[in-house]
Amino acid sequence: MAHAHGSLAGKSILITGATSGIGEAAARVFTRRGARVVLVARREDRLKTLVDEIRSAGGQAVQAAGDVRDSEHMARAVALAAEAFGRLDAAFNNAGTVVDRSPLHLVDDSAFDTVMDTNVRGVWNCMRHEIGAMLTTGGGAIVNTSSVAGLVATSAGAPYIASKHAVIGLTKSAAVEYAAQGIRVNAIAPGLVRSEMTTDWYARYPQTKERSAARAPQARMAEPEEAAEAAAWLCSDEASFVTGATLSVDGGATTW
Ligand code: NAP
Repeated sequence: MAHAHGSLAGKSILITGATSGIGEAAARVFTRRGARVVLVARREDRLKTLVDEIRSAGGQAVQAAGDVRDSEHMARAVALAAEAFGRLDAAFNNAGTVVDRSPLHLVDDSAFDTVMDTNVRGVWNCMRHEIGAMLTTGGGAIVNTSSVAGLVATSAGAPYIASKHAVIGLTKSAAVEYAAQGIRVNAIAPGLVRSEMTTDWYARYPQTKERSAARAPQARMAEPEEAAEAAAWLCSDEASFVTGATLSVDGGATTW
């Protein structure tokens, strides 16, 4: 059930990577807090199921199935927010991928390209169109999904680690450039989160599982909702003086 007085009440928010994991959880968390959402990911059938679920719970959602690597698609998705809900108040640029954790000299160039195109150019494409729209309506809030791999070198492989450091660079740069125009730009840095990404990863690299979870003082994986809640707060007006920040959501993993 959508809450008219929730922390995101009435806000029009675009979410990428909404077909699974953190983005799917965000679609539910944000709409429960009163947001109206535009959902982006490539698997159209799954987006439709989620949109139907949100609508039957009394929320408002529309889908824009497509690829964050495609700048024209992201232009259309941002335009859809204005068409459906009148404006774009916030965005959670969360779509991402991980391909190969081999030592750097053994990673294929194509794996490097896939990770950088999705995680860095994807966020770039999103932010350019979102900021363009927000400038016409007097401001907004953007949250990009980085990772603990954006803060330290984890076992996720060099392309992923480089891509998530770059997301923090894009976040800080945009925060500085648009602060005076009322746009806040922040990142979240989740630790291990239960999702398709981690399920697939541990099927391929089972030896890394226990070591990774044990790294966090809380010694467990997060549920995707726990990362989505941090993004919801950063999108809300309650975070009005927070910009350029990277919020760790990692059970303490980067603390020691
Ligand atoms: P996930 O379950 O695999 O979800 C990834 C989402 O991104 C899916 O909805 C996927 O949907 C979408 N996506 C991937 N490539 C896309 C593209 N080119 N265009 C549009 N959508 C695309 O993984 P997750 O764990 O929720 O990951 C979400 C974000 O959190 C990622 O940026 C990831 O790097 C980051 N993260 C995850 C963890 C973790 O432990 N799980 C930790 C730190 C950070 P489609 O396949 O339908 O397009």
